[in-house]
Amino acid sequence: MVDDREDNLFSIETILEPDGYHFVKATSGRQALKILLTEFDFALILMDVKMPNLNGFETATLIYEREKLRHIPIIFITAHNYGDENIFKGYQSGAVDYIYKPINPGLLRAKVSVFVELYKKNHKLLLQEQKLIAINKSLESEINERKISEEKIKILNLQLLQHVDKLEAANKDLDRFAFMASHDLQEPLRKIRTFSDRLSGKYEEIFDDEAKRYLNRIQNAANRMQMLIHDILTFSKISAEKKEFVKSDLNIILQDVLNDLEAPVKEKQAKVMIEKLPDLYINPNLMRPLFYNIVSNSLKYSKKEETPLIKISSDFTDENAGSKYCRIFFEDNGIGFDQKYSEQIFDMFIRLHNHSEYEGTGIGLALCKKIVEEHNGYISAKSAIGKGSTFIVSFPTEIKNISREKSPIPV
Ligand code: ADP
Repeated sequence: MVDDREDNLFSIETILEPDGYHFVKATSGRQALKILLTEFDFALILMDVKMPNLNGFETATLIYEREKLRHIPIIFITAHNYGDENIFKGYQSGAVDYIYKPINPGLLRAKVSVFVELYKKNHKLLLQEQKLIAINKSLESEINERKISEEKIKILNLQLLQHVDKLEAANKDLDRFAFMASHDLQEPLRKIRTFSDRLSGKYEEIFDDEAKRYLNRIQNAANRMQMLIHDILTFSKISAEKKEFVKSDLNIILQDVLNDLEAPVKEKQAKVMIEKLPDLYINPNLMRPLFYNIVSNSLKYSKKEETPLIKISSDFTDENAGSKYCRIFFEDNGIGFDQKYSEQIFDMFIRLHNHSEYEGTGIGLALCKKIVEEHNGYISAKSAIGKGSTFIVSFPTEIKNISREKSPIPV
């Protein structure tokens, strides 16, 4: 409230007091300007027009020259009607309203209350705007961060793809190397076996026991090497197989494998129970060594004192992320193994059982894993020492043929 007369200020304050406003009083234009520039914020200025030195209009002009004060409305209180020209002058300097003396208390309270309400609403809007600006800013920075992360992911994905390509090429090279190395080892091995056979056939009578033992050890080592070469060759040939899958009757393939295993099945008097298996899209050339290795392991790692039982069954899993799987279970009642090795046994050359008791190369299950992965499937094992083992092979029920150009391995 700006008025050069204290009694005027007092009477205005008395009228407005019941409405609970907070008043700041100035007795001159200059003092008002000073207060306005130092105090916080005002909802409204009530200003007398007729004041010595700086009148109300001049004060208003000075007030509105300040950017931070421009939004405060002014109600001029005056005893005169200055006529249209002067009222316009008031509006020009930003004034919003006039109240004429003698003051009508009801009108003053009503006008003040309108401006105060307006101020409150404006204040609320301002706060909301500030909040929105802050939210916008944080959204903007989030979007920026996301964009940066997306870029990073793109780059990482690209690097990953490049690494996958490199790894695939390195794997191919390794397979080729394994193939060549094992293939070239066959010839000298054949010679070792042929000549040691000749030695044992031709000179058996003149060899003493020690020489025979040595010869026997050479022959055993050569046989073992033959097995290793055979398994490495089979392993290295898998990637060269075309990724073309045909709908096949798994029962026929399994029967073929059991025919091949007839001798050990008979020898061990094993019982093989097969529940009907489904037709699946697979590569039959790869399915045979897969079934062969798992079933022959069940025979090999059977308990000596118990009739080996091998149960082969299957089921279908529920659709998981758009894919349905067929699981084939190979359950035996053999010697089993510690479950903690259930992943390691699928690595190359890992063997859990003594070589002198159970012959093998440690390649069979690695080969199985590679075959299953060629079909985009999974292989796992459940076992406990002395309690038998179950190998579970899962194939997706729908396999899309992926015909990829493969460089042929020289034979
Ligand atoms: P291996 O030529 O030694 O049989 P595999 O890769 O076929 O090589 O198997 C790896 C190891 O896993 C085996 O040496 C054996 O210790 C264990 N194993 C595989 N199948 C069975 C099974 N049915 N029962 C118990 N142990 C098994």
